[in-house]
Amino acid sequence: MEDISKNTAPEEPRKLNFLEEIIENDLKEGKFKSIMTRFPPEPNGYLHLGHAKSICLNFGLAQKYGGKTNLRYDDTNPVKEDTEYVDSIKEDIKWLGFQWDKELYASDYFDQLYAWAEELIERGLAYVDDQTQEQIREGRGTIDTPGKESPYRNRSVEENLRLFREMRDGKYADGEKVLRAKIDMAHPNMMFRDPLLYRIKHASHHRTGDKWCIYPMYDFTHGQCDSIEHITHSICTLEFDVHRPLYDWFIETLGIYPSHQYEFARLNLTYTLMSKRKLLELVQKQIVAGWDDPRMPTLCGVRRRGFTPESLKMFCDKIGVSKRDQLMDIQLLEWCLRQDLNARSNRYMVVQDPLKVTITNWEKGKVEWFDCPLNPAEPDGAKRKVPFTGELYIEKADFMEDAPKKFFRLKPDGEVRLKYTYIIKCEEVVKDAEGNIVELRCTYDPTTRPGGSEEWRSVKGTIHWVSIDHAEEIELRQYDRLFTKANMNDIPEDMDYKDFLNPDSLTIGKGYAEPALTGDTSGIAVQFERTGYYFKDPDSKPGHAIFNKTVALKDSYKPES
Ligand code: ATP
Ligand code: MG
Repeated sequence: MEDISKNTAPEEPRKLNFLEEIIENDLKEGKFKSIMTRFPPEPNGYLHLGHAKSICLNFGLAQKYGGKTNLRYDDTNPVKEDTEYVDSIKEDIKWLGFQWDKELYASDYFDQLYAWAEELIERGLAYVDDQTQEQIREGRGTIDTPGKESPYRNRSVEENLRLFREMRDGKYADGEKVLRAKIDMAHPNMMFRDPLLYRIKHASHHRTGDKWCIYPMYDFTHGQCDSIEHITHSICTLEFDVHRPLYDWFIETLGIYPSHQYEFARLNLTYTLMSKRKLLELVQKQIVAGWDDPRMPTLCGVRRRGFTPESLKMFCDKIGVSKRDQLMDIQLLEWCLRQDLNARSNRYMVVQDPLKVTITNWEKGKVEWFDCPLNPAEPDGAKRKVPFTGELYIEKADFMEDAPKKFFRLKPDGEVRLKYTYIIKCEEVVKDAEGNIVELRCTYDPTTRPGGSEEWRSVKGTIHWVSIDHAEEIELRQYDRLFTKANMNDIPEDMDYKDFLNPDSLTIGKGYAEPALTGDTSGIAVQFERTGYYFKDPDSKPGHAIFNKTVALKDSYKPES
């Protein structure tokens, strides 16, 4: 693992990454006319941020070099796979803004893979083994000691063919027999010690139903699928580098299209878990509300939270492609998100912890509507209408009775500007019997109306506010990190990842919003001025809007660049 404190954003303009170098070289040498990549998810869970990295890489490279990308489901394990996952994966890829060339399934190739297995048997390169899983594991030896040959290794071609066909026809129970390649039980690369090609699994497959009760293993599937699709650059994560020689061996032995595999480092993020198995456990144990719980690192989770595809792509581009495992700082992702939302999101005022302000010199019942820009970067752009009245809410934290010198918000006898409108002055602090401040009585200065004819008068502080009569009460779901540990790949032996769950990862609160907020149609997260970015939750109902906190407005974090 790299030290997280060294996490840097690469300099601009960035250098080619090693995959781009390989591809540019291949194209220059005329090895290919155009490139073909694939994204190969197993439909056994929802996609997470790590998959986004792989998607951006595979689709991004094809886009950059005028190639294409197939979406290929790696569906060789019927027990864990489901069409629910198949559908969600497509939705997530589209949401990221990518379009695949063909939608394919490893299961589309089961007939071809089966034929290749028989071919290997006929060529004396595969055999049916009756040993138990345990015996097979023991027989493989270790890195330092050679394996032992199976007593079934020298069966005749005819016997192997007959047994393999009987396996296919359902004559044997799960685990009773397997098909193995006959390579070399003393090979220094353990992968070559007669790897498993097929296993028996009496289970219905989400696409092929009950047609098959034997299913090919990953190593006997992936390379051949790549080859059938003429994938030029098969990009996968680092842990597959030990599989590469075997990937090549099957392709060479079968004499089929020479796809090549290249490995890059998985994306790991601080305070984040990226294993479908563990994420599934969080869902099943109802530790989170579902795969799309806004605290989840799944793409549907971060989408519901208010992350944008643009911010994820910016992040993937910034972190680049590495050949060494790395733990990236989640704050860099949040920084990218703020960059994107700051530029594009609409602004609204929402008071979360209200303190009543009465404007004593405001005409009773009068409402004045202000045209305020939806985005300050475009002062002449679209506007929202904000009502000003004599009874307002401000944030409790924006008033201080015994304020230090540097406190530039509201204090007794002090002045502050209410954003977009007038300067007010605090004349009187009203308290209840227990001494709690319950109201501020203020006056406004009518000459300070922005855009008015008077000379502009400025004060040091500007605060947000809402008109009580017009405010809409909204539910706020405030999120914090789901885990308390930075490196979730480094859990002590005697502990479980669930020991690091943050008990305060969700707090539900209330807010009082200016009326335009609930009519926002931008479709992306909005900025609650001075507070943070929030995204409307699909659980919202008319009269009961719910907003998820996407990310705080500010953070001291800055990427090194
Ligand atoms: P998980 O361990 O979460 O189940 P996986 O690798 O088994 O992940 P797949 O569905 O097989 O999930 O992954 C599809 C593709 O996404 C693969 O090419 C895989 O290498 C890539 N991928 C998965 N996780 C990451 C990650 N954290 N960073 C980059 N790529 C990833
Ligand atoms: Mg996998």
